[in-house]
Amino acid sequence: MNTEKAQRHNERMKRHKKIVDEKIDNANIEQGVVIVITGNGKGKTTSALGTLLRSLGHGQQCALVQFIKGQWDCGETHFFADNNISHNKESSKGTSETGNLVTYTMNTGFTWNTQDFDKDKLAAEEVWKQALPLFSDPECNLIVLDEITYMFKYKYLDINDFITVLNNRPRHQNVIITGRAAPEELIEMADTVSEIRPVKHAFNQGIKAQEGIEW
Ligand code: ATP
Ligand code: MG
Repeated sequence: MNTEKAQRHNERMKRHKKIVDEKIDNANIEQGVVIVITGNGKGKTTSALGTLLRSLGHGQQCALVQFIKGQWDCGETHFFADNNISHNKESSKGTSETGNLVTYTMNTGFTWNTQDFDKDKLAAEEVWKQALPLFSDPECNLIVLDEITYMFKYKYLDINDFITVLNNRPRHQNVIITGRAAPEELIEMADTVSEIRPVKHAFNQGIKAQEGIEW
């Protein structure tokens, strides 16, 4: 790069650093966050799992609550169970007293196929009831609520009750919510919201869903 160009680049970087440093200085509130990962593109659940891994890596207590039946065969579920990282409240498989991750899964009811309102609502309420004590447990650092947005969409759970629970949780606790069509009220109250936009998906080009990528 010629000297004039290099000098201009350095000056731009200096100005950029000043702005970033100011932002860092101003961000000094210590509290947990509510993160929403929504949109129609691929990467919502896997993003939440990445953060879960990050949190577990720091030795934090975490919970994974899955609101859609049929995800138990996922690679991550096997990984957590096989490595004694997780213990499921319902099943004895992969039970560990030492693991930092507790999992709750909707074992009955809602799948894309059942479409039985009463049964699905009951199943949603059941898993929500099991997970509720997490929101008053100061030891729990991170709660992932995977696909919970559909529970509000179909009116299985009440969005206002849910927001009240979020607002009253321990101050340092982090919560990640995934699923398409996140309700407006949730977007409003959350601290971080990312919308994943589908630019392309292999499925639409006829490429088969595959182990290790889709589940
Ligand atoms: P992932 O679990 O891979 O992060 P996701 O949580 O963003 O995906 P979901 O809406 O939960 O997406 O759907 C899960 C499944 O649907 C995955 O197998 C994913 O590859 C697939 N999928 C996600 N987005 C699309 C899309 N735009 N078109 C087709 N299939 C999709
Ligand atoms: Mg998902």
